[in-house]
Amino acid sequence: MLQGRCLCGAVRFAATGEPLWVAHCHCESCRRATSAPMATYVGFRATQVAWSGEAPEIFRSSPGVQRSFCRRCGSPMSYASEGSPGEIHLFAASFERPEALKPGVHVFAGEQLPWLQLADGLPRFATLSKDGPPLD
Ligand SMILES: [Zn+2]
Ligand SMILES: [Zn+2]
Repeated sequence: MLQGRCLCGAVRFAATGEPLWVAHCHCESCRRATSAPMATYVGFRATQVAWSGEAPEIFRSSPGVQRSFCRRCGSPMSYASEGSPGEIHLFAASFERPEALKPGVHVFAGEQLPWLQLADGLPRFATLSKDGPPLD
């Protein structure tokens, strides 16, 4: 089981089984939602994830897209989209052991900030990979 929490600890989650994928997203929406130069997501089927503590607040950032956050400390907690039904995307950095997760791909690399230099050798897609994570 993989567990995680927000900065203040009010919102907690536990995910069972293996992630579907782990991906870095460079799109502007994810940057703004996290106030960070990129966001690293861990995809799960929604049925794999259980929340505890306080329920996260939901923000509908665009049609069909729900981003959740802790209403106490503001930590972004999840992403869900009608484009990837039945999935929930958590943030690698909110897991108790993010070092145990293995990112496999960069998406929306066409929007990557020029001063963010990464030499991890992972596949890069200008927008979405054909078979990869359906982030947007
Ligand atoms: Zn919190
Ligand atoms: Zn994104």
